[in-house]
Amino acid sequence: MLVDFLIIGQGISGTWLSYYLGKENKSFLVIDNNFQNAPSRLAAGIINPVTGRRHATVWMANKLLLFAWNAYNELGKELNIKAISQKNIIDFFPSPQMRLSFQQRVEEKGEFVSLNKEDNRYSSYFHYEFGYGVVTPAYTAHLETIIPAWRKKLKDKNQLLEEEFDISLLESGQKQIHYKDITANKIIFCDGAGCADNPYFKLLPFAPNKGEALTLKISGLPDDHIFKKGMMLVPLATPGEWWIGSSYEWEFTDTHPSENFRKKTEQLLKEWLKVPFTVTDHLAGLRPATLERRPFVGLHPFHPNIGILNGMGTKGCSLAPFFARQLADHLLFQKPVTPEADISRFSKILSR
Ligand SMILES: Cc1cc2nc3c(=O)[nH]c(=O)nc-3n(C[C@H](O)[C@H](O)[C@H](O)COP(=O)(O)OP(=O)(O)OC[C@H]3O[C@@H](n4cnc5c(N)ncnc54)[C@H](O)[C@@H]3O)c2cc1C
Repeated sequence: MLVDFLIIGQGISGTWLSYYLGKENKSFLVIDNNFQNAPSRLAAGIINPVTGRRHATVWMANKLLLFAWNAYNELGKELNIKAISQKNIIDFFPSPQMRLSFQQRVEEKGEFVSLNKEDNRYSSYFHYEFGYGVVTPAYTAHLETIIPAWRKKLKDKNQLLEEEFDISLLESGQKQIHYKDITANKIIFCDGAGCADNPYFKLLPFAPNKGEALTLKISGLPDDHIFKKGMMLVPLATPGEWWIGSSYEWEFTDTHPSENFRKKTEQLLKEWLKVPFTVTDHLAGLRPATLERRPFVGLHPFHPNIGILNGMGTKGCSLAPFFARQLADHLLFQKPVTPEADISRFSKILSR
C-alpha cells in the first residue's frame, strides 16, 4: 500500500492532522491501538483562555480560541455531531483572598474575566460563601463524541488500522518510509506520551504528567456553564452526565486511578454540591506535557520523512487543531511553524 502520509495515533492530534491532510486531498493511513486511557479519551475538552491562580491569559489565547471555535464547528458539521459548546466558567472563590486576587485581575483590565452581580444565582445548587467571577468565553470540545465519530469515518474509508504500531519495524529510506507492507512519503507521530520512548524523538524534553478525573451523574444541575472550585465540574454532551477533574502530578509511581484522588474529590463534591451525585467512573491517564509547556511540531531536522505533532500537555483541545493546520501547511506548502512550537528549535539535541 502506498500513501502520502502514515499517521501514528488517533487522539485529538492525529484526528486533526488527518482531517486537514484529507481536506488537501492527500492520501493517508492512521494506525491507532485504541488505548482506552489515552488522554483524548478521558479529557472533558475544556478550552479556557486563562490559567493559574492569577488568571493569566494563556499563550496565544485569542488566536487559538477563535481558531478552535471555527474548526470544531466545521468538523461537527461534517460529522453531523455537536463538536463544541460555549460553556463559560463560573469560578467560585474558595477564600476572600482569591476573591481579591480575581477582583485585582478585573481592575487591571485582565482579558476574559469579569465579576458577576448576582451572587445568589447558584445558591440552590452549590455552597459558596465568597461569591464568584466569570471567565468568558470558555468552551468544551466534545471529545467523547468527536474521537469515535472521526474513527468511524476513517474506518469506513479504509484509512484506519486498529493495531499497535511497532517502531522496530519502521525503515526510513532516502525518500520514503516503509512499515510492513506500507510505503509512505512521510510518517508523522501523533502518539501522545508514548513518544517519549520513540528513538527519533526521545531526546526532546517531554515531561509526562498524570491526571485523574471522575465522571458523575447529577440531575437538575444547570448545564450551561463549567463550574470551578478547586476543580472543574464540566457538563458532558449527554444531559445529566458530568466530569470533575483533574489532578496534575509530575511524579507518580503508576498511571492507575488512585484511591486518594477519588476520596478527595468525593469529599470536595459533598462539601460543594447541594444536589445529589453518583460517581460512574474513575479515569486516569498521562498528558503528553513538555518541560517548556510548548508543543512539538514539524519534521525531524535529520530525518526529513519523519515528523511529529505532540507535546499538547494540558491544552490539547485548543492547541491540536491550530497546530495540525500549521503542520499540514508546512508539509504541503512549506509554510513556517510558529517558532515556539517548531521542532527545529531542538536541532542541536536531535543531532545526538
Ligand atoms: C485527566 C485529564 C484531563 C484533561 N483535560 C483536558 C481539558 O479539559 N482540555 C484540554 O485541552 N486538554 C485536557 N487534557 C489534556 C489532553 O487530553 C491532551 O493534551 C490531548 O488529549 C493529547 O492528545 P494527543 O492526540 O496528542 O495524544 P493522545 O490522546 O495520547 O493520543 C495518542 C493516540 O495514539 C495512540 N497510540 C499511542 N502509541 C501507539 C502505538 N504504539 N500504536 C498505535 N497507537 C498508539 C493512542 O491509543 C492514542 O489514541 C487532559 C488530560 C487528562 C489526562
